[in-house]
Amino acid sequence: MQLAELTWPAVQALNKDTPVVLPVAALEQHGHHLPLFTDSLLLGEVVRRTVERVGHRALFAPLTWLGNSDHHLDFAGTLSAPPRTYLDVLGGLLENCLQHGFKRLVFINGHGGNDVPGKQAVFEIRQRHRQRQDLLLLFATYWNLADPSRITPLNLRQREMGHACEWETSMMLRLAPGLVKEFKNLDPVEAGLGFAPATRAWITRERTTLGHIGHPRDASAEKGEALFTVFTDGLVAFLERVMAWDGKGWSG
Ligand SMILES: [Zn+2]
Repeated sequence: MQLAELTWPAVQALNKDTPVVLPVAALEQHGHHLPLFTDSLLLGEVVRRTVERVGHRALFAPLTWLGNSDHHLDFAGTLSAPPRTYLDVLGGLLENCLQHGFKRLVFINGHGGNDVPGKQAVFEIRQRHRQRQDLLLLFATYWNLADPSRITPLNLRQREMGHACEWETSMMLRLAPGLVKEFKNLDPVEAGLGFAPATRAWITRERTTLGHIGHPRDASAEKGEALFTVFTDGLVAFLERVMAWDGKGWSG
């Protein structure tokens, strides 16, 4: 069910245990070979496939394409909400949904830079409404919802998501091949360990010259379809857990 297509009385009449799904992504550089809208296009496709399977059991808001991409601003075209601004945007969206009576609010994210502000947003709003015991506020990144045992057999070069990498390039080849420029000659850029397990603050240009991190030259449309399938299955399974929540318990 698409929020954008409903009237306000129709929204008011909905069962307020209906999960509200808020997709959030970005518009930022994706190397020399992928378009700036890559994260939004890919998450949009995962959500599109998910809506077909979940139907009227969840309410899907339109994708918020403006994300926190300050670390990519050295590359032309990137548009970013600064992290504190973005935190307030996400918190505001949650407050909007609470105002309308909904209790199960789920951010589905498609961009790494949204991870910290997204987790902070659900944390802050939970504290603000600490007297309530009926709220489920969640933030999840779509590729982390995948069943790892389904990723392994795909014979991917990369073990995890990078940036404009084998995984993203593969999905773009499947979704919109006309938007993918030459990628077969791009040298891999390893993700590296940084100072793991510490979190090192970073800007993109200190890790990559062209803009990609990972192995885009190993991409294929077949891998892209396989990834879309696994990611969609993961998101559907996750939303089933949200819908099955008993409305008060910790686990789900
Ligand atoms: Zn991306």
